Amino acid sequence: MHRCNPYSRRTFLQKGLVLSAGMLAIPRTGFPADKRRQVMTVTGMIESSAMNHTLPHEHILVDFIGAEEVNPPRWDRDEVIKKVLPYLQEVKNAGCQTLVDCTPNYLGRDVVLLKLLSEKTGLFIITNTGYYGGSDNKFLPPHAFTESAAQLSGRWVEEWQKGIDGTSIKPGFMKISVNPSHLSDVSLKLIQAAALTHLKTGLTIASHTGPALPAFEQIEVLKASRVDPAAFIWVHAQNETDKSTYVKAAREGAWVSLDGLRESNIDEYLDNLLRLKGEKHLHRVLLSHDAGWYDPGKTDGGEFREFTVLFRKMIPAMEQAGFTEDEIVRLIHENPANAFAVGVKKRKKKKGD
Ligand SMILES: [Zn+2]
Repeated sequence: MHRCNPYSRRTFLQKGLVLSAGMLAIPRTGFPADKRRQVMTVTGMIESSAMNHTLPHEHILVDFIGAEEVNPPRWDRDEVIKKVLPYLQEVKNAGCQTLVDCTPNYLGRDVVLLKLLSEKTGLFIITNTGYYGGSDNKFLPPHAFTESAAQLSGRWVEEWQKGIDGTSIKPGFMKISVNPSHLSDVSLKLIQAAALTHLKTGLTIASHTGPALPAFEQIEVLKASRVDPAAFIWVHAQNETDKSTYVKAAREGAWVSLDGLRESNIDEYLDNLLRLKGEKHLHRVLLSHDAGWYDPGKTDGGEFREFTVLFRKMIPAMEQAGFTEDEIVRLIHENPANAFAVGVKKRKKKKGD
C-alpha cells in the first residue's frame, strides 16, 4: 500500500518553522495521529506521531563503575540537572522533541532523573528495560548468570507492567548488549529473554551490537522465537566495515542504527545514507549521536558531548547532497516513530522454517 507522506511542501510552508542560518526549516507538528501506534515515555504513553524529531540513541548519564557497585546511586540529581539541562534545552531549541535514553539498568539508569529532565525541558524522554552483556559482562548482576532466559524476561516484563524501581515510570523499549563476535552463552540468553519479553510486551529490542556477525545471529534467534526482525534495532551498525550488510539487515526488516554521528564523520554518514537511499532502504535507518553523558566517576561529570550535530550540520549536508524534505523527515521522525511504536511483531511461519 502506498503511504502518502504528510509532509508536503505546502505542509512545510503552513506549519511553524524553526529557522536559523544554514538550517533546514523543521516543522514543529507531527504527522497525522494514528491511534494504533503509541510509544511509552517517562511521562506516560503518547501517540508516536507526537514524537516529532527524535534522537533514537543518546545518554543523559552513564556510570561505568560496574553492576556490583552502581547502587546506591553515586550522583546528586541536582548536580546532574545543573550540568545536563542546558544541553537538552539547546537540542530542543534546535528542533528535537524526543530523546531516547539508552542507558540500561546497572549502568546508571535513573528514571526519576529522566522524568525531572523531561518535565523541565518539555522533551519526551524514553527509557528502557533489559541488561547489558558484553564488556566482559561487567554490567550484569549476578542473577543474570544463574537465571534462565524466561526468568530474566519475567523481571523485564514486570518493569513494563508495574514500573521501574518502585515508580510508575515504564520502559519504552528494551536495551540489551551482546559481545561483538559469535554470541556467547550469556549474550544468547539475553536475546532469547528479549524475544520472550517482546512477545509479552510489544517493546522493541535495541541491542548494542556493532559488527554484522552477532547482529545476524540475533536476528536468527528472533526468527526462531517467532519474533519479526522489525522488532530489532542493530545498534552501532556504523562499526561494521562491510556496508553491504546494512541492506541485508534492512531486507530482513531490522532497523539499522547509525548512531555515532559527530562533526568529524558527517561525510562518512552521508556516504552510508546515499548508498541506502540508492538501495531504497532509507525506511529502515535510524540516526543519532550516542552523545552525552554525565559520568559520576569524573569531576563535575566529565566532558559532556552535545546533541545538536544532526540538526545543525547533518541535515544541511543532506539537503546539499540532494535528499528531499520527505526523506529527511522520514529519517528523523517517521522511522523512530515506527521503530519505537509499542506492539507485538510476530513473524509468520515461512517456507523452510
Ligand atoms: Zn550508547
